[in-house]
Amino acid sequence: MQWKEQILDLPPYQPGKSTDAVKREYGLDNIVKLASNENPYGCSKKVVEALQKSVQALEIYPDGHATYLRAAMAKHLRVNENQLIFGNGSDNIIQIISRSLLTPGTNTVMATPSFSQYKHNAVIEGAESREIPLVNGEHDLDNMLKAIDSQTKVVWVCTPNNPSGVYIPGNRLVSFIEQVPENVLVVLDEAYFEYVTADDYINSITLLDKFKNLIVLRTFSKIYGLASLRVGYGVANPEVISALEPVREPFNVNTLAQIAAVSAIEDQEFIEECKQKNQAGLEQFYQFCQEQGLNYFPSQGNFILIDFNLDGNEVFQYLMEHGYIVRSGKALGFPTAVRVTVGSKEQNEGVMAEMKKLLELKSQQVR
Ligand SMILES: *Cc1c(COP(=O)(O)O)cnc(C)c1O
Repeated sequence: MQWKEQILDLPPYQPGKSTDAVKREYGLDNIVKLASNENPYGCSKKVVEALQKSVQALEIYPDGHATYLRAAMAKHLRVNENQLIFGNGSDNIIQIISRSLLTPGTNTVMATPSFSQYKHNAVIEGAESREIPLVNGEHDLDNMLKAIDSQTKVVWVCTPNNPSGVYIPGNRLVSFIEQVPENVLVVLDEAYFEYVTADDYINSITLLDKFKNLIVLRTFSKIYGLASLRVGYGVANPEVISALEPVREPFNVNTLAQIAAVSAIEDQEFIEECKQKNQAGLEQFYQFCQEQGLNYFPSQGNFILIDFNLDGNEVFQYLMEHGYIVRSGKALGFPTAVRVTVGSKEQNEGVMAEMKKLLELKSQQVR
């Protein structure tokens, strides 16, 4: 077979290690996974109740139009129903956008390090990725603008950025989009939107009136706690949505996922609670880093990138052997750091205690 040349040495996505795998490998009973920015409080009880009532008619295809979810989401966001596209996770929307716009000979602009799937999909489509290094964890918007040329089709902007946790203030974001040519699609990946507390973060849905070349991506995988069900969505002007729709698989969001997402939207109290607990958790980590003299980026997400000044894989390995799965910064473009998902208060205390032990061990070795 003659596979696309560009996929021959393309590594498959490396997910965070599962708790089961680590338990087996290291003979541990208790493992806390703080690797994939999942919600430590699970999902709303209302979602669980709705799902329990709904496990029936599994032989019937899902509603390909996501009628109820569409209506609920349009109301929640105060947009029209034709401004929404749903995906099997926002990963799926990233794929749909890439398939729709990228071809060999075109290019796409993104920050680096940022979410891996922008480049991954560009590679598959045979397009060139123009990766602009972050500056202090922030998107270098000026250099991203400079990288755009007549063959640029998509610009990816991740705010707050995964893995740095840094967000783009509203005024800077607006001025950036104003300078992107109108025929280039700007994708704002806001997977952590609901966690943001910064006053000058802009609700980008309000920008859709002004910018016809904008799509905002959000997800039920993070604060809504439904990563296993795979629901993400894009919000844009109807022209953008109707261009993308033919590229979407007909039944990409399954029935249970649609039911769960509708109930999840209805329980905003749960979301507010998770947001507040996350903020308190971030403060725990900030204090720890300050005490230990570790560098970190203040985060607007539910994760924090901590620089240990050690090999990230070594920190990862040590923490895993002591019951905590985090993400090594090595594969994320920060080789001396680890990315830690903010867990519950106890989980945070637990992982910090192990981090402290590792630092003590290391300082003894130096002496
Ligand atoms: C987690 C994440 C996603 C993917 O979310 P799914 O909806 O689960 O596919 C997309 N973008 C960023 C930045 C993420 O961190």
